[in-house]
Amino acid sequence: MKITVIGCSTTWTDRPTSSYCINDNILVDAGEGTIKNYDKCKIDIDKIEHIFITHMHTDHTLAVVDYIYNALWHYQQDHIKKLNIYGLKGIVLYFKKLIDTLLPDYKNLDLCSFINFHEITDFDSEIKVGNLKVKCFQLKHGVVKDIAYVFDDNTTKVGFSGDCTYTETLDKFVKYCDVLFLECCDMKTDTRHLGYDKFIEYVKLYKDKKFYGIHCTNKIYFAENKLGITLAHSQDTYTF
Ligand SMILES: [Zn+2]
Ligand SMILES: [Zn+2]
Repeated sequence: MKITVIGCSTTWTDRPTSSYCINDNILVDAGEGTIKNYDKCKIDIDKIEHIFITHMHTDHTLAVVDYIYNALWHYQQDHIKKLNIYGLKGIVLYFKKLIDTLLPDYKNLDLCSFINFHEITDFDSEIKVGNLKVKCFQLKHGVVKDIAYVFDDNTTKVGFSGDCTYTETLDKFVKYCDVLFLECCDMKTDTRHLGYDKFIEYVKLYKDKKFYGIHCTNKIYFAENKLGITLAHSQDTYTF
């Protein structure tokens, strides 16, 4: 499985926000401004067929508006519904409101006529995408919910936490994965974000797994070497 980190930061740095590409045709999140990094990361917007949204915050969703616009243009040419968007219940209404506000010339556009939306409610079953199985874990992120996705090619399970605080389900998610792109926002875990204190506990507990810290503040980025952890960085590529 090939992973390209388009962006993985919080909003509050000069680094790109969250977006990861898997095998050239799948995205996990597409946060504000990440589309500006596509050339550097060699992402072909027309190849993207599946976008998995961890949660409905703009640092994870705003660039999806560009994909919706692109999907509409293609649908008008060939009438093929190619783009699939996955997320929590309410994701269709969320993007409808975003489009109505951000692209007023397309107000009242029926998004479902040219995009396949998948609102995830059953966390026990898996999603099939090509040769990958996708398992979802529902996590907490303050008052909103977050979906952690795990992509499994029958050899390696690669997980993306999104933004989340500590819960027992997070334990299950970490245990399930071989490779983790796990939040390490600031030094301490709070009700919205996982911090270095819990991140390092997992690293020490599971020495056979690979951990990459994501969604970090500058304090964490600048202390990466001192803290003895590995962070993901924009334009990193990995093959697992
Ligand atoms: Zn968030
Ligand atoms: Zn975020």
